[in-house]
Amino acid sequence: MKKLNDVIWIKNNSGDIVSNKENIQTVKNLLNDTGCGFCLAKFTQVTMHLGTGLVHSCHHPKAHVIPLEELANNPAALFNTSQLKTARKQMLTGEKPSECDYCWRVEDRNSPSDRYFKSLENWALQTHDMVLENGHEIDYYPTYLEVDFSNVCNFNCIYCGPEYSSIWVEDLKRNGPVKVLEHTSKVQWIQGWQDLDSITYKNREHNPYVEAFWKWFPEAYKKLKFYRITGGEPLLSKETFRSIDWLIENPNPELDFSINSNMGVPDKLWYSFLDKIKVLANGKYVKKFTLFTSVDAWGERAEYLRPGLDFELFKKRYEEVLQIGGVRCVIMCTFNLLSVTSIQQLLEWQSDLRSKYNVDRELLQLETQFGVNLGGEISHLERNKLSGNHFAIVGIDIPYLRHPQCLDAHFSDKNLIEQYLVPAINFMSKNTGSSHWGLHQGYESYEVEKMKRIVFDIIHFNSTHDEKNPVVVEGRAKFYDFVNDMDRRHGKNFLDVFPEFKSFYEKCRQNKNDILKEEHKLK
Ligand code: SF4
Ligand code: SF4
Repeated sequence: MKKLNDVIWIKNNSGDIVSNKENIQTVKNLLNDTGCGFCLAKFTQVTMHLGTGLVHSCHHPKAHVIPLEELANNPAALFNTSQLKTARKQMLTGEKPSECDYCWRVEDRNSPSDRYFKSLENWALQTHDMVLENGHEIDYYPTYLEVDFSNVCNFNCIYCGPEYSSIWVEDLKRNGPVKVLEHTSKVQWIQGWQDLDSITYKNREHNPYVEAFWKWFPEAYKKLKFYRITGGEPLLSKETFRSIDWLIENPNPELDFSINSNMGVPDKLWYSFLDKIKVLANGKYVKKFTLFTSVDAWGERAEYLRPGLDFELFKKRYEEVLQIGGVRCVIMCTFNLLSVTSIQQLLEWQSDLRSKYNVDRELLQLETQFGVNLGGEISHLERNKLSGNHFAIVGIDIPYLRHPQCLDAHFSDKNLIEQYLVPAINFMSKNTGSSHWGLHQGYESYEVEKMKRIVFDIIHFNSTHDEKNPVVVEGRAKFYDFVNDMDRRHGKNFLDVFPEFKSFYEKCRQNKNDILKEEHKLK
């Protein structure tokens, strides 16, 4: 079987293998030389949900339970369950594990799947020859670890659920399940179908998965390149602080470390977190530290989507993070129907912060050479100190929301698209960073491309599904029920917060009535 150096790779000036069309084809051929289902992510990347005892590798396959009997004598079972070992064996013997059906569906359409993209990542590719040598029986350690320690959270974002938020658990116990199109044949349980009492270990009770994690971590840590703590709200878990202390006591200059946070915890906790991060991100302990946070709209619209959020506090804390030095802070904007009308304001604020904080290293050189401040409020010399090892410290990622489906932005009508979405992408494309003057001061081209795909998708859906299309009628009717239920739970009024949705909401109400009438007629 071919080894890594038996094939020719295209590399950049620093000697790194780049992610381009040619290398994707090369990695595909290399993997297929071992087997048509061989994927290095299965040997290197893992997401662990320790509150629920679930694991998946990579994040695409459905998470499965880590059997406690496998864990009892071997904490490495966290990443080496019998299910994962079987999948690895299949990959090395020419089979395609069924749990990876996400990739097989993409490859069946002759498109490049994540099997190629992930395997080409440096954290995966460099393990290729070692995996061929060791086969499927040994216990592997991941190079890319994502973990949540519990579901404790102080928010209950309307698109989240009890698996990730303890407030959602309380809400469902108090207010019952979230159902849409109730009393019709199309009824759907959006939340509340879960067994709420045994869904996850409580924050304070003994959790054998967390215990196993800390036995396993010192060995696993030696191999790690990426470590990300998610939640729940990680700042409410003592394991997050234990992780930071561990990294400070055991520096790893190769590690890319990140934490997710809603940045809405009480002041005392927030500032003790910042104090720790100031130490961690000073360049001595890890290669890079990134804080991921989330908002999906602007102002009170964002607060409607994320109950618990204080938007003004969020903005203040976002800048506090940027001012620490060495910390990149990325907003995850989960793009959904309720993002449409205020995403532009969010993008404008992001754009202003980029021009204020991101460093342009060419301008930095000029500043150093001529002693002229080219950055305004914060010079590029100052910005450079804040940047640490990051190319830019202000960032946004815009993943597309799929669940609950009734919040899918596909259901936007033409008016929402023309009045809000098109101006938002226009703004983004007019405010890109220029390589001539002002690099990273605006949006990067890959960010505009991603937003363009979202906008195209919505426009395409809208033009191929008229307002009488059953998918649209049902989706919008569910949206109507969903926001009314959220209003009831959170004591809000949808149209007070989103008055611009008035005619859309009316259409949705009509759609709901049409479904009721239709079903009544059939009886
Ligand atoms: S084959 Fe696809 S789904 Fe399976 S581990 Fe690789 S990237 Fe993930
Ligand atoms: S902050 Fe995160 S974990 Fe908490 S409810 Fe919101 S999305 Fe869920």
